[in-house]
Amino acid sequence: MSSVGKDESERTWCPSGDAHAPESVVLGVRSGQDGRVVYLADPVPASQVLGAVPEGVEPRRVLRFASHCVSDCVNRRGGDCTLVERVLSAPPAPDTDRVPRCHLRAHCQWWSQTGVAACRRCPAIATRHRAGDELGELMADPSTTREQLDAWTAAAGS
Ligand code: SF4
Repeated sequence: MSSVGKDESERTWCPSGDAHAPESVVLGVRSGQDGRVVYLADPVPASQVLGAVPEGVEPRRVLRFASHCVSDCVNRRGGDCTLVERVLSAPPAPDTDRVPRCHLRAHCQWWSQTGVAACRRCPAIATRHRAGDELGELMADPSTTREQLDAWTAAAGS
């Protein structure tokens, strides 16, 4: 089903979204210390902040954006998001017990699909990964299987 023409009350939003969609808002800021996301209390239109991102910096390396969950996303399988499935299959980052305050939750695809489990992992997720972030790249790749994530986890722990 196309997102075009959907009633706003039934539409879900992507918490790892596009910076440049017309509806995009800033979900949070990646902190300098460990890259975890600090969530904004209220949504700010992405168009208001993109101009402040230094030239040459990919906005999604420093900010997390929310935009409509769209049917042509590479991560969509029917009405589900396979990205959040991979996120939940990967080993948790330290300190994943806290559930952030988040303005998107009521409309969030990840929340509607997995509930609070996704909220606990969400702060550690980067929409764009730094070079060398092997696990991040694996999770972002729609072709990654559960077995590959398990193998990565086993190798990292050995
Ligand atoms: S399927 Fe997942 S990654 Fe794709 S737009 Fe929807 S929530 Fe975002």
